Amino acid sequence: MKPASFTRHVPKTLDEALKILAEVAPQDGRVLAGGQSLVPIMAFRMARPAHLVDINEVAGLDTLKVENGKLTIGARVRHGAFHKPVVEGPLGALLATVVRHIAHYPIRMRGTFCGSLAHADPASEWCLTAATLDAELVAKSARGTRTIAAQDFFTGIMSTALKDDELLAEVRLPLLLAGTKFGFNEFSRRAGDFAVAAALVVYSLQDGKMSGAKVGLGGAEATPRRVPAAEAVLNGVVPGDGAFRAAAEAAVNAINPLEDHQTSGEYRRDLVRAVVRRALEASV
Ligand SMILES: Cc1cc2nc3c(=O)[nH]c(=O)nc-3n(C[C@H](O)[C@H](O)[C@H](O)COP(=O)(O)OP(=O)(O)OC[C@H]3O[C@@H](n4cnc5c(N)ncnc54)[C@H](O)[C@@H]3O)c2cc1C
Repeated sequence: MKPASFTRHVPKTLDEALKILAEVAPQDGRVLAGGQSLVPIMAFRMARPAHLVDINEVAGLDTLKVENGKLTIGARVRHGAFHKPVVEGPLGALLATVVRHIAHYPIRMRGTFCGSLAHADPASEWCLTAATLDAELVAKSARGTRTIAAQDFFTGIMSTALKDDELLAEVRLPLLLAGTKFGFNEFSRRAGDFAVAAALVVYSLQDGKMSGAKVGLGGAEATPRRVPAAEAVLNGVVPGDGAFRAAAEAAVNAINPLEDHQTSGEYRRDLVRAVVRRALEASV
């Protein structure tokens, strides 16, 4: 099918984009970034926005920069930018590891990091990354700028704290100190499919014991999130099979799993057990 008719706006500056968004938001105006989620939804007529604010020519939104110990990712930065490490150290390596699990190459060359977060699919790898690393999300509108913590940003399945007239202008990820360990694992039915469950873990070592552990889960619940019960099992403990299995069990017990026609809650719990353990194994 073809999309319902719409008007496409192509602003060149951020101020212009925000002004247009403020005008068209009440008429179901939406931001168009990579189009890799929005365009298929429009083609199926599951969305019929009357206006699209295409940000692909907005100057200054394509930047990746390090400032104040954080990596800032602008709204036009594509998934493919992360195929090679964008910063030295563990964060660049982590992003380059995770990106390979997102969709297929052509989609990664168009879809954007910020678009993934705004779309908020519970199984999105970047949403999981943002939630696990406690990202800051910068929302701009004609009314002003506000910064939203990742834990407050995801409010439900494909639902976020963004207002209709707000553009997610950039996302800030804290750099990881040298020596920080990380591991990622996901289960999807075919390569390139959305994950049925995914886990990202990060920790540092002090005197051989884990500290500052972050255990994030995606695809398992309505929103990606850190799992404090699993983190508590790891902190102060030497990495190893026993600790990894105990943390995986803690995660299984902490979740309220999504259920759908293909995946029961019980099966998702089993997958969570596996992906948390495997992510931890990948960290050593
Ligand atoms: C076959 C297929 C497989 C895929 N597999 C995966 C996968 O495994 N993992 C995964 O994470 N993704 C997957 N995707 C989705 C892909 O990663 C998209 O690129 C991503 O979800 C949305 O990014 P986008 O830039 O294309 O956003 P768009 O499609 O342009 O927009 C998506 C939504 O976000 C809003 N939006 C976009 N940018 C902003 C912004 N800056 N501010 C405010 N609102 C904004 C739009 O208005 C729209 O509602 C897949 C897509 C396809 C087609």
